[in-house]
Amino acid sequence: MSGPLGRRGLLGLFAAGAVTAVASGCSERTVDGPEGNPSTGPASPGAGTSSPSDSTGGTGGESDAGSPPSKDEIVSQYADAHPGEFGLEVSGVRLALPEGCSAAALTFDACDDESGVDEQLLQGLIRREIPATLFVNRRWAQAHPDTMEMIVDEELFAVQNHGDEHRPLSVSGAAAYGVAGTASPAEVFDEIMGNQNFLREEYGVECDFFRSGTAHLDETSAQICRDLGLTPVNFTVNLDDGGTLPPEAVAARVGEISSRDIALGHFNQPGSGTHAGLQEALPQLLEQGLRFVTLQQAC
Ligand SMILES: [Zn+2]
Repeated sequence: MSGPLGRRGLLGLFAAGAVTAVASGCSERTVDGPEGNPSTGPASPGAGTSSPSDSTGGTGGESDAGSPPSKDEIVSQYADAHPGEFGLEVSGVRLALPEGCSAAALTFDACDDESGVDEQLLQGLIRREIPATLFVNRRWAQAHPDTMEMIVDEELFAVQNHGDEHRPLSVSGAAAYGVAGTASPAEVFDEIMGNQNFLREEYGVECDFFRSGTAHLDETSAQICRDLGLTPVNFTVNLDDGGTLPPEAVAARVGEISSRDIALGHFNQPGSGTHAGLQEALPQLLEQGLRFVTLQQAC
């Protein structure tokens, strides 16, 4: 990993064009400036001290053993909570694989129900036997039951939670790219657990990781997510700016991936350059010996 600061600098180059593209896809853009809440500090213990690049350690399932808190318990516990910082890289969110890991992780999101399925991307990963973590939104999953069956059954893929309504995760209604966030601890609970319960009941999938719609969240929401037994995860390399980049730009981003990186792309934008960019640039990484894992796999 060449360091998150360098990545952020690169991502910043693309910020100016990001706002216009929100309607086309998933909205995980590369704008870096959080909006909404001033940083007032996290509201609960354990959310405020870690470094952003490796704020968690371990590989998931780090929350307390036993059953997660109920919605009423979350609402009561966080009734007076301040949101803390809001953005892509707030405390409590995992950005990279654990220290010492020699592998990298490809993660791909599927966002709204009106988007599609990038079959070429999925089949390309299967053909090359590359593991990947797939974050699915509940509405997308309900619109694509056949693809859901396939990715759940495919051993290379790990299906994870990309939210119930694809909203930024906020206790105070903070928005990202014009998308309104959840506005209370109760709505944070619903955004996480709505899809968590759907994926369990429909597909027997118990998710360990969560990525919010737009990938934005605040520190208190990140803590609530952990309380509920899921690790909030973002990324160190943005591969496709929400599925909006041409193949050559995606290939350049893929070429940046190295050990410990978590790369973010989209598999719900079949017309994007994502699959072609991956196809162009992945072989070289594999020849160099880079190994890929899902987020759950040991490095
Ligand atoms: Zn998304």
